Amino acid sequence: MKKISLVLGAVLAAAPAFATVRIVTSLQDFASIADAVGGKRVETFALAKGYQDPHFVDPKPSFVLKLSKADLLIVAGLELEIGYLPPLIDQSRNDKIRPGASGYLDASNGCDILERPTGTVTRAMGDVHPFGNPHFWLDPENGRIIARAIAARLTELDPSGAADYKAGLAAFEAKLTEGGKRWDAALGPYAGTEIVTYHNSWPNFLKHFKLVAAGYIEPKPGIPPSPAHTVELINMMLEKKISVILMEPYFDDKTPKAVAEKTGAKLVRFIPSVGGVPEAKDYIALFDYDVKLLTDALAAKGTKP
Ligand SMILES: [Zn+2]
Repeated sequence: MKKISLVLGAVLAAAPAFATVRIVTSLQDFASIADAVGGKRVETFALAKGYQDPHFVDPKPSFVLKLSKADLLIVAGLELEIGYLPPLIDQSRNDKIRPGASGYLDASNGCDILERPTGTVTRAMGDVHPFGNPHFWLDPENGRIIARAIAARLTELDPSGAADYKAGLAAFEAKLTEGGKRWDAALGPYAGTEIVTYHNSWPNFLKHFKLVAAGYIEPKPGIPPSPAHTVELINMMLEKKISVILMEPYFDDKTPKAVAEKTGAKLVRFIPSVGGVPEAKDYIALFDYDVKLLTDALAAKGTKP
């Protein structure tokens, strides 16, 4: 009997003194930031993987189970998740994570959101960015805002962890500031350079690093390439001597390859999210990876702004 209680005592002593906050995120980027801020106090699960198109995620039954047990759901908002998430929230029957509840965090709040429509939203603007560009996590300063929002919400949901969240946030922000110096130094010489991207995934990234999107392989966000648009794009690229095309890992490379051949531009598989490649293992590593890819491509092409 004594032996059993000793074993039990050891088990109890080893158990953490706090309950884990279960977090589900739409993107691995938010999960990475939440892990950095929450450390051991949180457990995260991302629905979309970094190598998948975040607009089009295949809902799995396991997602409903994860959502049903979640204390906090973090989304990009701006309708990025409109195609799959609302029915999953319904099926989870978890009122804690419904929009408006304390366990629902729209990460776009407070971030620098680009391309917000000023007039009436119509389908003519494209299919998938009706309320502004939802790829805003690709500006590291928006990452800082997201981290602060996550820390504040975790502190609200789990007040006993306030000091831990404050420390986690401070450590993350310090890494972000350090990283920012590296990234700015690497891309600084290319300020003003025009590039082409497949989908309009990088306006925040480009704005932050003072680069310019001259055009897109897609005629409008969410609309596949068309021959007429491709011809126009090729002519524009030749005229402007554009040397780099950035392409998300989840698109077919037939059109971008053809455009690269016709224009002599370098086609780069750029990574829009944590987990897009194993090297982009967290939010800081994502920028390290992308900035190196882009500077290598620009340097190889001898691009001068
Ligand atoms: Zn998009």
